[in-house]
Amino acid sequence: MRIKEAGMVDRLMPDLEAQLLLIGQSKGKFGGGRRKPFRVTQRKTEDGSKPKFSVMAVIGNRNGYVGIGFGTSSETMPAREKAIKNAKLNLIKIKRGCGSWQCGCQTHHSIPFKILGRSSSVRLEFLPAPKGVGLAIHSECRKILELAGIKDVWGRSYGQTRKRINLINACFDALKTLQSTKIMKSFEKEAGVVEGKV
Ligand SMILES: [Zn+2]
Repeated sequence: MRIKEAGMVDRLMPDLEAQLLLIGQSKGKFGGGRRKPFRVTQRKTEDGSKPKFSVMAVIGNRNGYVGIGFGTSSETMPAREKAIKNAKLNLIKIKRGCGSWQCGCQTHHSIPFKILGRSSSVRLEFLPAPKGVGLAIHSECRKILELAGIKDVWGRSYGQTRKRINLINACFDALKTLQSTKIMKSFEKEAGVVEGKV
């Protein structure tokens, strides 16, 4: 059943952690362009330009549950709150395991199999990695996988990965396939697959 209220998610999962993803960019004077959590777009009106802030948040319990959410508002704080609320409603359960043939430790530090995700022109590929590799992927994807509870993974990407929102959506898209892909019981045991735990 779908949960439609963020408050219920808080009740069911008390140890959720939230992080903002850097989708914005400030216009630095010195060739800058530091990554910022707020993406600012402007609309011209009779009174001048009105800014609009977009925020993307990721939440997770570092134990197999993760969600991303998008929020916009004319001010920064409400945008942030909306993003976190949407992330809570967007929570998914994922499978973890050790699908790395170099490792074969049967614990859930990585993913059980190769996954693919796409959004717009961005295509991502995550591969199971042996223990100690860490998250060898883009920094914003790293935040998402960290909060999902995945520790070691190799990644490849294609397309316009500079477009952060698409990158993030592709990353989440890939994580979704962890749950939707059918796997054999025997393999599940071999790779030490576990589902999300509250
Ligand atoms: Zn392993």
